[in-house]
Amino acid sequence: MIIAVDGPAGSGKSTISKLVAKELNLLYIDTGAMYRAVTFMWLQTQLLGRPYLEEKLITDNDVRKAIKKEILYKHHEKALQIICDNIKIKLETSDSGLKTFLNDIDISEYIRTTLVTQNVSHIASYKEVRTFLVDEQRRISQGTNVILDGRDIGTVVFPFADYKFFLTASIEVRAKRRLEDMKKTGEEISLEELCADLKRRDHLDSTREEAPLLKAHDALEINTDNFTIDEVKNQILNIVRSN
Ligand code: C5P
Repeated sequence: MIIAVDGPAGSGKSTISKLVAKELNLLYIDTGAMYRAVTFMWLQTQLLGRPYLEEKLITDNDVRKAIKKEILYKHHEKALQIICDNIKIKLETSDSGLKTFLNDIDISEYIRTTLVTQNVSHIASYKEVRTFLVDEQRRISQGTNVILDGRDIGTVVFPFADYKFFLTASIEVRAKRRLEDMKKTGEEISLEELCADLKRRDHLDSTREEAPLLKAHDALEINTDNFTIDEVKNQILNIVRSN
């Protein structure tokens, strides 16, 4: 069984998907974490963001040099292709939450920083990155019952998914939810800044050429503004269980 959950940032996708996965014993794939992992690697190759893990993440000196050379000549597509050819992303659900590994190094605590969040929609717009990650998402899902959340699951990754949901919420509610998430990371950011970032990402994600954020024609739209997490989870569970 494949369940696709799409929608903009802060619409409740990952919280709800995790709970549905637990209830139905499904594998949960947070595809946003995968785009964040590639973005983190991209920033590392330019020594942006700390800690500097570049040499640990890609141990081959020649590969690192090749990436830097392409970046120097502003061949960003080529640089990203080399990155994608040399990384393995693994997602793991543990008691302390979802863990993201890049070439077996745990990068979970680095992929939610403001720097990664500010850059991820740009990196996610590259065809090279999308092709790599969509293939990975299909590979990981093979032969298992799975729930994936993202922006293009019901439209591109699994257009024949068994169930498709499209979650939405007002910008104010989404920004407040993000503020709560950010408090946990200890980073200081205002509600206004979060609103502006969400609007910017919505715009980039919805207007890009490759797999834009779009509701699949056969997805059920749920506005989560006035529902509790449990209420949305139960709506989804009722639909899946009644079929
Ligand atoms: O879900 P999350 O906010 O972590 O996603 C981060 C970014 O990754 C999104 O803003 C979007 O640019 C990109 N993304 C995507 N396609 C997906 C999942 C995420 O383009 N399936």
